[in-house]
Amino acid sequence: MSLLDVDAVDAYYGESHILRDLSLTVEEGEVCALLGRNGAGKTTTLRSISGAKPPEVRDGTVRFKGDDITGLPADDVAMQGISLVPEERRVFANLTVEENLRIAEVSRNTSNTWRRPRTATGQSMSTEQVYEDFPRLGERKTQKAGTLSGGEQQMLAIARALKQSTDLLLLDEPYEGLAPKIVEDVEAAIERISDQGVTILLVEQNAAAAIKIADRAYVVDQGAVVFDGSATELRDDDETRERYLGV
Ligand code: ATP
Repeated sequence: MSLLDVDAVDAYYGESHILRDLSLTVEEGEVCALLGRNGAGKTTTLRSISGAKPPEVRDGTVRFKGDDITGLPADDVAMQGISLVPEERRVFANLTVEENLRIAEVSRNTSNTWRRPRTATGQSMSTEQVYEDFPRLGERKTQKAGTLSGGEQQMLAIARALKQSTDLLLLDEPYEGLAPKIVEDVEAAIERISDQGVTILLVEQNAAAAIKIADRAYVVDQGAVVFDGSATELRDDDETRERYLGV
């Protein structure tokens, strides 16, 4: 059984048919990349899984650890152990790094515990662990989050997500807008998290960077999967890369 199993999903925003018979699986322990051009349907796929600003899934199912989670509200999905870091990297600009982490801890642990039993099995990350994995955040714990660089804010957003007990981390374009050197720092942080046993679904437009750390990859185009294979296979597949990824 796959950790995540998206099976033949058709998703709509109003009458716009966005995801077409889209299937993908994420296996426990891997880094899986979901790639594609602007507007291909990557964010919509993450939204269909996480329940955050979801499209309407009219057909197909999303299963997590074998349970049907199709159409569940975001809080309930989170309780099952799925954490999302959205493209906007939400951090509280006027609070310090440490306060941002503390608030994430409190809100994750108290929200809606009465609604559904918590079935997440992953450890939530302690603040000490965060500073070990993201040394740069440790150096800046008393700094206001709004004054962090883009890469540091991305790391803080990821660390905040991991304050919730996480089995599957969904990352939406974590490298967006970052200089190549900073992309490497964020990459290293993602690899450290993966080494600790957190499964990762990584959505990126920066295919070259994503392929570097991914075990497997999917490429989507116009809401449908057009490639599915190992990261090595995609690296060697010039036609797919040129046609759908422009690299
Ligand atoms: P990007 O990298 O630009 O975020 P993406 O692959 O994540 O691209 P999506 O954001 O999933 O693409 O968008 C897929 C399609 O759905 C696009 O054509 C987009 O215009 C459309 N779309 C996205 N959000 C909505 C919405 N709320 N209402 C209607 N159409 C939407």
